Amino acid sequence: MEIERNPTRTVRIGNVEIGAGHPIAVQSMTATHTRNIDATVEQINALHAAGADVIRVAVDSRQDAEALLEIRRQTSANLAVDLQENYRMAEIVAPAVDKIRYNPGHLYHHEREKPWQDKVRYLVDIAGEHNCAMRVGVNCGSVDPEKLAHYDPEDSISPMLESAREHCELLDSLGYHRYCVSLKDSDPEKVIEVNRRFAEQRPDVPLHLGVTEAGLPPDGVIKTRIAFEQLIGRGIGDTIRVSLTVPNPRKIEEIAAGRQILDDIRQGRVRSVVHFDRNSLNIIACPSCSRVENEAFIELAEEVKEMTRYAHDYAITIAVMGCRVNGPGETDDADLGLWCGPSHVNLKRGSESLGAYPYDAILPRLKQELDQLIAAKSDG
Ligand code: SF4
Repeated sequence: MEIERNPTRTVRIGNVEIGAGHPIAVQSMTATHTRNIDATVEQINALHAAGADVIRVAVDSRQDAEALLEIRRQTSANLAVDLQENYRMAEIVAPAVDKIRYNPGHLYHHEREKPWQDKVRYLVDIAGEHNCAMRVGVNCGSVDPEKLAHYDPEDSISPMLESAREHCELLDSLGYHRYCVSLKDSDPEKVIEVNRRFAEQRPDVPLHLGVTEAGLPPDGVIKTRIAFEQLIGRGIGDTIRVSLTVPNPRKIEEIAAGRQILDDIRQGRVRSVVHFDRNSLNIIACPSCSRVENEAFIELAEEVKEMTRYAHDYAITIAVMGCRVNGPGETDDADLGLWCGPSHVNLKRGSESLGAYPYDAILPRLKQELDQLIAAKSDG
């Protein structure tokens, strides 16, 4: 099935090019602690061998940044660095990577008095100096608060679009065009909508597609497939990442799933009438990364899935997040949310905090809340 792609410009990321005339690149992200150089190199090389075109590594501290410099020496894979709050790590890591991903929604955390435009100018200078591409990575769980304030709380898409658009305008005005954009949500329908609308406004900008916190397989693959089939089938999307919550040795499943979805779309084997039962239990979970506060996160996500099976027929969303970066924001939209800390798990009912519990005490506490929700729905 020949798909007419949007006329996106070419962006080179190391030895791979994305954009209209190039195959859709498949990406993944390491979930090891970046400062654990051996484990991270091992995971990068496993992903590379599995066919990953680009591999992202999270950096939050100088220690992570220096580790990434050594990691670079031990792998030939195309590397991207994921910067959240601490964007100033760019100057340390840029010589070691092929792409810099920054999150507009986290730029305000440091140097609060400095305008975000100056921070982006800094990133452009660094990227230019070190031959790096960039990604403007907007995520539903951490949208720029200034943009959120402009819109109805029910409208999560418009602030994401406005944030991405204004960053594109600034980058263009600085003469920097080697960038792509991502607009991620944990709801596949919202991913379809926000990317479709962005592509209408900026058909020239390459898009990195992903359903964030898609969760544990197979649900995580199904959610992602729904969005990718609808977008790539319309010619939207130049690189993809399937975010799966799996133990580290199984991280290569993200690449296999991404390649399978692309191959199916090419062969016309689309299943987008796949009915993702919105009236049943929906588990949202992040794919983990170097920022995970406690290695027990993946196991906890699997245990939550097991423990909550009895609630399958209830339209309840439970979010399980690995850390503070997207944890607090992403869990706000769920009926029940868990986001991990080093020794405790924070429990929420919507945006209401219900306290923090030791890892061995959180499941029974979650079950209490779930039973109350079910009772309320049954009485309702
Ligand atoms: S929520 Fe935290 S641990 Fe999970 S993927 Fe996002 S940054 Fe990483």
